[in-house]
Amino acid sequence: MNEAWIIVTEEKPTPALVAAAKGLGGKVIAAVVGPRALAEAVAVAGPDAVKWIETEQGRPAEAYAGPVARLIAADAPRAVVANASAAGRVLAGATAANLGAAMIPRGLKLSADGEDTLVERADLDGRVIETIASAGPVVTFYAGDDVAQAPCPPAPIETVAATGVADITLEKIEPAAGADAGITKASVVVSVGRGLKKKDDLTLIQGLATALGAEIGCSMPVADDLGWVEKERYVGRSGQHITPRLYIAVGIQGAPQHLEGIRGTKVVVGINNDPDAPIFKAADFGIVGDLYEVVPALQAALGK
Ligand SMILES: Cc1cc2nc3c(=O)[nH]c(=O)nc-3n(C[C@H](O)[C@H](O)[C@H](O)COP(=O)(O)OP(=O)(O)OC[C@H]3O[C@@H](n4cnc5c(N)ncnc54)[C@H](O)[C@@H]3O)c2cc1C
Repeated sequence: MNEAWIIVTEEKPTPALVAAAKGLGGKVIAAVVGPRALAEAVAVAGPDAVKWIETEQGRPAEAYAGPVARLIAADAPRAVVANASAAGRVLAGATAANLGAAMIPRGLKLSADGEDTLVERADLDGRVIETIASAGPVVTFYAGDDVAQAPCPPAPIETVAATGVADITLEKIEPAAGADAGITKASVVVSVGRGLKKKDDLTLIQGLATALGAEIGCSMPVADDLGWVEKERYVGRSGQHITPRLYIAVGIQGAPQHLEGIRGTKVVVGINNDPDAPIFKAADFGIVGDLYEVVPALQAALGK
Protein backbone atom coordinates (compact mmCIF):
# COMPACT_ATOMS: atom_id res chain seq x y z
CA MET A 1 0.00 0.00 0.00
CA ASN A 2 1.25 3.46 -0.90
CA GLU A 3 0.40 6.46 1.18
CA ALA A 4 -1.07 8.62 -1.56
CA TRP A 5 -1.95 8.69 -5.24
CA ILE A 6 -2.54 11.55 -7.59
CA ILE A 7 -4.78 11.41 -10.66
CA VAL A 8 -3.57 13.44 -13.62
CA THR A 9 -5.56 14.12 -16.79
CA GLU A 10 -3.75 17.32 -17.78
CA GLU A 11 -0.27 18.65 -17.09
CA LYS A 12 -1.13 21.57 -14.83
CA PRO A 13 -0.84 21.71 -11.85
CA THR A 14 0.99 18.39 -11.32
CA PRO A 15 3.77 19.73 -9.03
CA ALA A 16 1.07 21.11 -6.74
CA LEU A 17 -0.77 17.77 -6.68
CA VAL A 18 2.47 16.00 -5.77
CA ALA A 19 3.26 18.57 -3.06
CA ALA A 20 -0.24 18.24 -1.57
CA ALA A 21 -0.02 14.42 -1.56
CA LYS A 22 3.53 14.42 -0.12
CA GLY A 23 2.11 16.21 2.92
CA LEU A 24 1.31 12.72 4.22
CA GLY A 25 5.00 11.93 4.28
CA GLY A 26 4.89 8.74 2.22
CA LYS A 27 5.27 7.63 -1.40
CA VAL A 28 3.16 9.29 -4.06
CA ILE A 29 2.07 7.31 -7.12
CA ALA A 30 0.62 9.10 -10.15
CA ALA A 31 -2.18 7.60 -12.23
CA VAL A 32 -1.91 9.37 -15.57
CA VAL A 33 -4.66 9.20 -18.17
CA GLY A 34 -3.62 10.68 -21.50
CA PRO A 35 -0.90 10.57 -24.12
CA ARG A 36 2.67 9.38 -23.46
CA ALA A 37 3.88 13.00 -23.41
CA LEU A 38 1.66 13.68 -20.40
CA ALA A 39 3.04 10.65 -18.55
CA GLU A 40 6.58 11.85 -19.26
CA ALA A 41 5.80 15.37 -18.04
CA VAL A 42 4.30 13.97 -14.84
CA ALA A 43 7.29 11.67 -14.29
CA VAL A 44 9.59 14.67 -13.77
CA ALA A 45 7.17 16.51 -11.49
CA GLY A 46 8.11 14.60 -8.35
CA PRO A 47 6.02 11.41 -7.93
CA ASP A 48 7.73 8.16 -6.94
CA ALA A 49 6.18 6.20 -9.80
CA VAL A 50 3.83 6.73 -12.73
CA LYS A 51 1.12 4.30 -13.82
CA TRP A 52 0.14 5.30 -17.31
CA ILE A 53 -3.18 4.56 -18.98
CA GLU A 54 -3.01 5.57 -22.61
CA THR A 55 -6.14 7.20 -23.99
CA GLU A 56 -7.35 6.00 -27.38
CA GLN A 57 -7.83 8.58 -30.10
CA GLY A 58 -11.21 10.30 -29.64
CA ARG A 59 -11.85 8.70 -26.24
CA PRO A 60 -12.36 11.27 -23.44
CA ALA A 61 -10.45 10.72 -20.19
CA GLU A 62 -13.78 10.25 -18.39
CA ALA A 63 -14.11 6.89 -20.17
CA TYR A 64 -11.28 5.57 -17.98
CA ALA A 65 -13.00 6.24 -14.65
CA GLY A 66 -13.52 2.52 -14.02
CA PRO A 67 -9.95 1.34 -14.73
CA VAL A 68 -8.43 4.23 -12.75
CA ALA A 69 -10.72 3.66 -9.78
CA ARG A 70 -9.94 -0.09 -9.72
CA LEU A 71 -6.20 0.48 -10.13
CA ILE A 72 -6.05 2.84 -7.17
CA ALA A 73 -8.51 0.94 -4.99
CA ALA A 74 -6.32 -2.21 -5.36
CA ASP A 75 -3.53 -0.31 -3.59
CA ALA A 76 -5.88 0.99 -0.87
CA PRO A 77 -4.04 4.28 -0.31
CA ARG A 78 -4.79 6.68 2.48
CA ALA A 79 -5.47 9.62 0.16
CA VAL A 80 -5.93 10.53 -3.49
CA VAL A 81 -5.56 14.00 -5.04
CA ALA A 82 -6.86 14.66 -8.56
CA ASN A 83 -6.54 17.66 -10.80
CA ALA A 84 -9.70 19.76 -10.90
CA SER A 85 -10.55 19.44 -14.61
CA ALA A 86 -13.97 17.98 -15.44
CA ALA A 87 -12.32 14.62 -16.19
CA GLY A 88 -10.16 14.82 -13.03
CA ARG A 89 -13.27 15.28 -10.93
CA VAL A 90 -15.07 12.36 -12.56
CA LEU A 91 -12.08 10.08 -11.99
CA ALA A 92 -11.79 11.31 -8.40
CA GLY A 93 -15.47 10.57 -7.76
CA ALA A 94 -15.25 7.08 -9.23
CA THR A 95 -12.10 6.38 -7.19
CA ALA A 96 -13.77 7.58 -3.99
CA ALA A 97 -16.71 5.26 -4.65
CA ASN A 98 -14.42 2.26 -5.31
CA LEU A 99 -12.22 2.96 -2.31
CA GLY A 100 -15.18 3.62 -0.03
CA ALA A 101 -13.41 6.92 0.67
CA ALA A 102 -14.74 10.28 1.79
CA MET A 103 -14.83 12.81 -1.05
CA ILE A 104 -13.61 16.22 0.13
CA PRO A 105 -13.57 18.70 -2.77
CA ARG A 106 -11.14 21.61 -3.24
CA GLY A 107 -8.30 20.23 -1.09
CA LEU A 108 -5.13 22.28 -0.88
CA LYS A 109 -2.94 20.38 1.58
CA LEU A 110 -2.87 16.97 3.19
CA SER A 111 -1.23 15.97 6.43
CA ALA A 112 -1.33 13.14 8.93
CA ASP A 113 -2.51 13.47 12.50
CA GLY A 114 -1.92 10.01 13.92
CA GLU A 115 -4.44 7.73 12.22
CA ASP A 116 -6.42 10.68 10.90
CA THR A 117 -5.84 12.36 7.56
CA LEU A 118 -6.25 16.13 7.60
CA VAL A 119 -7.40 17.94 4.47
CA GLU A 120 -7.17 21.72 4.28
CA ARG A 121 -9.58 23.17 1.80
CA ALA A 122 -10.69 26.59 0.65
CA ASP A 123 -14.25 27.73 1.17
CA LEU A 124 -16.28 30.91 0.78
CA ASP A 125 -14.48 31.92 -2.42
CA GLY A 126 -11.12 31.27 -0.79
CA ARG A 127 -11.79 33.56 2.18
CA VAL A 128 -11.54 30.75 4.72
CA ILE A 129 -9.50 27.56 4.97
CA GLU A 130 -11.28 24.62 6.59
CA THR A 131 -9.40 21.66 8.02
CA ILE A 132 -11.30 18.40 7.81
CA ALA A 133 -10.17 15.26 9.62
CA SER A 134 -10.95 11.85 8.20
CA ALA A 135 -10.50 8.58 10.04
CA GLY A 136 -10.69 6.69 6.73
CA PRO A 137 -9.37 7.17 3.19
CA VAL A 138 -10.01 10.50 1.46
CA VAL A 139 -10.21 11.67 -2.13
CA THR A 140 -10.01 15.30 -3.11
CA PHE A 141 -9.44 17.40 -6.21
CA TYR A 142 -6.93 20.20 -5.92
CA ALA A 143 -8.22 23.75 -6.34
CA GLY A 144 -5.21 25.87 -5.47
CA ASP A 145 -2.37 27.54 -7.34
CA ASP A 146 0.37 25.61 -9.05
CA VAL A 147 3.75 25.54 -7.32
CA ALA A 148 7.15 26.16 -8.87
CA GLN A 149 9.28 23.05 -8.97
CA ALA A 150 12.60 22.24 -10.57
CA PRO A 151 12.41 19.09 -12.74
CA CYS A 152 13.15 15.91 -10.75
CA PRO A 153 14.87 12.77 -12.05
CA PRO A 154 12.17 10.93 -14.00
CA ALA A 155 10.09 8.45 -12.03
CA PRO A 156 9.58 5.03 -13.67
CA ILE A 157 6.58 4.87 -15.99
CA GLU A 158 4.60 1.64 -16.06
CA THR A 159 1.99 1.15 -18.76
CA VAL A 160 -1.31 -0.12 -17.39
CA ALA A 161 -3.71 -1.95 -19.70
CA ALA A 162 -7.19 -0.51 -19.26
CA THR A 163 -10.15 -2.85 -19.19
CA GLY A 164 -13.77 -1.87 -18.75
CA VAL A 165 -13.35 1.44 -20.56
CA ALA A 166 -16.69 3.24 -20.98
CA ASP A 167 -17.88 3.28 -24.57
CA ILE A 168 -17.95 7.03 -25.06
CA THR A 169 -16.33 8.90 -27.94
CA LEU A 170 -15.74 12.51 -28.79
CA GLU A 171 -18.01 13.10 -31.78
CA LYS A 172 -17.14 16.71 -32.63
CA ILE A 173 -15.96 19.98 -31.14
CA GLU A 174 -17.57 23.22 -32.22
CA PRO A 175 -17.79 26.68 -30.65
CA ALA A 176 -20.76 27.08 -28.30
CA ALA A 177 -23.19 29.92 -28.90
CA GLY A 178 -21.54 33.08 -27.61
CA ALA A 179 -18.20 31.30 -27.18
CA ASP A 180 -16.50 33.40 -29.80
CA ALA A 181 -16.75 36.35 -27.49
CA GLY A 182 -13.57 37.82 -28.92
CA ILE A 183 -12.37 38.66 -25.43
CA THR A 184 -9.24 36.53 -25.78
CA LYS A 185 -8.12 38.49 -28.83
CA ALA A 186 -9.29 41.98 -27.79
CA SER A 187 -6.67 44.65 -27.19
CA VAL A 188 -8.98 46.55 -24.83
CA VAL A 189 -11.33 44.92 -22.30
CA VAL A 190 -13.77 46.68 -19.99
CA SER A 191 -14.62 44.22 -17.26
CA VAL A 192 -17.38 44.49 -14.69
CA GLY A 193 -17.78 43.05 -11.22
CA ARG A 194 -20.32 42.78 -8.47
CA GLY A 195 -20.03 46.53 -7.91
CA LEU A 196 -22.72 46.77 -10.60
CA LYS A 197 -26.10 46.90 -8.88
CA LYS A 198 -28.35 45.44 -11.55
CA LYS A 199 -28.24 43.77 -14.94
CA ASP A 200 -29.81 46.75 -16.74
CA ASP A 201 -26.82 48.86 -15.69
CA LEU A 202 -24.67 46.83 -18.08
CA THR A 203 -25.67 49.46 -20.69
CA LEU A 204 -23.34 51.81 -18.83
CA ILE A 205 -20.44 49.36 -19.19
CA GLN A 206 -21.35 48.63 -22.80
CA GLY A 207 -21.32 52.39 -23.50
CA LEU A 208 -17.74 52.72 -22.25
CA ALA A 209 -16.69 49.54 -24.07
CA THR A 210 -18.14 50.83 -27.34
CA ALA A 211 -16.43 54.21 -26.87
CA LEU A 212 -13.09 52.41 -26.44
CA GLY A 213 -13.68 49.75 -29.10
CA ALA A 214 -13.40 47.23 -26.28
CA GLU A 215 -14.83 43.80 -25.50
CA ILE A 216 -16.82 43.29 -22.31
CA GLY A 217 -15.40 41.02 -19.61
CA CYS A 218 -16.50 40.33 -16.05
CA SER A 219 -15.61 38.68 -12.77
CA MET A 220 -16.71 35.10 -12.14
CA PRO A 221 -19.78 35.84 -9.97
CA VAL A 222 -21.23 38.22 -12.57
CA ALA A 223 -21.31 35.36 -15.08
CA ASP A 224 -21.59 32.31 -12.86
CA ASP A 225 -23.84 33.42 -9.99
CA LEU A 226 -25.76 36.32 -11.51
CA GLY A 227 -25.79 35.16 -15.12
CA TRP A 228 -25.68 38.76 -16.38
CA VAL A 229 -22.81 38.16 -18.83
CA GLU A 230 -22.01 35.03 -20.88
CA LYS A 231 -19.73 32.61 -19.04
CA GLU A 232 -17.24 32.79 -21.91
CA ARG A 233 -16.46 36.34 -20.87
CA TYR A 234 -15.46 35.90 -17.28
CA VAL A 235 -11.83 36.38 -16.52
CA GLY A 236 -9.62 34.58 -14.02
CA ARG A 237 -8.21 31.32 -12.84
CA SER A 238 -11.20 29.29 -13.90
CA GLY A 239 -12.24 31.63 -16.73
CA GLN A 240 -10.47 33.37 -19.59
CA HIS A 241 -6.78 34.17 -19.42
CA ILE A 242 -6.24 37.34 -21.42
CA THR A 243 -3.43 39.76 -22.16
CA PRO A 244 -5.01 42.91 -23.64
CA ARG A 245 -3.12 46.18 -23.94
CA LEU A 246 -5.65 47.82 -21.61
CA TYR A 247 -7.87 46.18 -18.97
CA ILE A 248 -10.37 48.33 -17.08
CA ALA A 249 -11.77 46.61 -13.99
CA VAL A 250 -15.02 48.30 -12.99
CA GLY A 251 -16.44 47.43 -9.57
CA ILE A 252 -14.16 44.38 -9.29
CA GLN A 253 -12.39 43.86 -5.98
CA GLY A 254 -9.29 42.25 -7.54
CA ALA A 255 -9.30 38.79 -5.94
CA PRO A 256 -6.15 36.73 -6.67
CA GLN A 257 -8.25 34.27 -8.68
CA HIS A 258 -9.46 37.12 -10.89
CA LEU A 259 -6.01 38.66 -11.31
CA GLU A 260 -4.64 35.31 -12.49
CA GLY A 261 -6.61 35.85 -15.68
CA ILE A 262 -4.94 39.15 -16.58
CA ARG A 263 -1.28 38.35 -15.94
CA GLY A 264 0.72 39.86 -18.76
CA THR A 265 -1.81 42.62 -19.44
CA LYS A 266 0.02 45.80 -20.37
CA VAL A 267 -2.02 48.41 -18.47
CA VAL A 268 -4.58 47.68 -15.76
CA VAL A 269 -7.01 50.36 -14.56
CA GLY A 270 -9.13 49.84 -11.46
CA ILE A 271 -12.36 51.71 -10.75
CA ASN A 272 -13.64 51.04 -7.27
CA ASN A 273 -15.32 53.04 -4.52
CA ASP A 274 -13.25 51.31 -1.85
CA PRO A 275 -9.75 52.85 -1.63
CA ASP A 276 -8.51 49.65 0.05
CA ALA A 277 -9.77 47.32 -2.70
CA PRO A 278 -6.98 44.89 -3.71
CA ILE A 279 -7.41 45.84 -7.38
CA PHE A 280 -5.48 49.05 -6.65
CA LYS A 281 -2.39 47.02 -5.71
CA ALA A 282 -2.48 45.29 -9.09
CA ALA A 283 -3.51 48.34 -11.15
CA ASP A 284 -1.23 50.73 -13.02
CA PHE A 285 -3.89 53.43 -12.62
CA GLY A 286 -6.66 53.59 -10.06
CA ILE A 287 -9.80 55.69 -9.84
CA VAL A 288 -11.40 55.70 -6.40
CA GLY A 289 -15.04 56.51 -6.95
CA ASP A 290 -18.56 55.37 -7.65
CA LEU A 291 -18.64 53.56 -10.97
CA TYR A 292 -22.01 55.17 -11.66
CA GLU A 293 -20.23 58.54 -11.76
CA VAL A 294 -16.79 57.51 -13.06
CA VAL A 295 -17.91 55.44 -16.05
CA PRO A 296 -20.18 58.13 -17.61
CA ALA A 297 -17.50 60.76 -16.90
CA LEU A 298 -14.88 58.64 -18.71
CA GLN A 299 -17.21 58.12 -21.63
CA ALA A 300 -17.93 61.85 -21.80
CA ALA A 301 -14.19 62.58 -21.68
CA LEU A 302 -13.74 60.26 -24.66
CA GLY A 303 -16.27 62.49 -26.45
CA LYS A 304 -18.59 59.58 -27.21
C1 LIG B 1 -11.22 28.17 -6.73
C2 LIG B 1 -11.74 29.54 -7.05
C3 LIG B 1 -11.66 29.98 -8.36
C4 LIG B 1 -12.10 31.26 -8.66
N1 LIG B 1 -11.97 31.69 -9.95
C5 LIG B 1 -12.33 32.95 -10.24
C6 LIG B 1 -12.16 33.46 -11.56
O1 LIG B 1 -11.71 32.76 -12.47
N2 LIG B 1 -12.52 34.74 -11.81
C7 LIG B 1 -13.04 35.57 -10.84
O2 LIG B 1 -13.36 36.72 -11.14
N3 LIG B 1 -13.24 35.10 -9.59
C8 LIG B 1 -12.91 33.82 -9.27
N4 LIG B 1 -13.12 33.37 -8.02
C9 LIG B 1 -13.90 34.22 -7.08
C10 LIG B 1 -13.02 35.30 -6.47
O3 LIG B 1 -12.39 34.79 -5.32
C11 LIG B 1 -13.89 36.52 -6.04
O4 LIG B 1 -14.89 36.10 -5.14
C12 LIG B 1 -14.53 37.23 -7.21
O5 LIG B 1 -13.57 37.55 -8.20
C13 LIG B 1 -15.16 38.53 -6.69
O6 LIG B 1 -15.86 39.14 -7.73
P1 LIG B 1 -16.09 40.71 -7.69
O7 LIG B 1 -14.80 41.42 -7.47
O8 LIG B 1 -16.89 41.06 -8.89
O9 LIG B 1 -17.10 40.88 -6.45
P2 LIG B 1 -16.90 41.45 -4.99
O10 LIG B 1 -15.88 40.71 -4.25
O11 LIG B 1 -18.28 41.51 -4.42
O12 LIG B 1 -16.37 42.93 -5.21
C14 LIG B 1 -17.14 43.97 -5.72
C15 LIG B 1 -16.29 45.22 -5.70
O13 LIG B 1 -17.05 46.30 -6.22
C16 LIG B 1 -16.80 47.46 -5.43
N5 LIG B 1 -17.99 48.33 -5.57
C17 LIG B 1 -19.21 48.16 -5.01
N6 LIG B 1 -20.03 49.17 -5.41
C18 LIG B 1 -19.29 49.97 -6.22
C19 LIG B 1 -19.58 51.17 -6.93
N7 LIG B 1 -20.79 51.73 -6.92
N8 LIG B 1 -18.59 51.75 -7.65
C20 LIG B 1 -17.34 51.20 -7.70
N9 LIG B 1 -17.02 50.06 -7.04
C21 LIG B 1 -17.99 49.44 -6.32
C22 LIG B 1 -16.59 46.93 -4.03
O14 LIG B 1 -15.81 47.85 -3.27
C23 LIG B 1 -15.85 45.62 -4.28
O15 LIG B 1 -14.44 45.82 -4.26
C24 LIG B 1 -12.68 32.10 -7.67
C25 LIG B 1 -12.76 31.63 -6.37
C26 LIG B 1 -12.29 30.37 -6.05
C27 LIG B 1 -12.37 29.91 -4.62
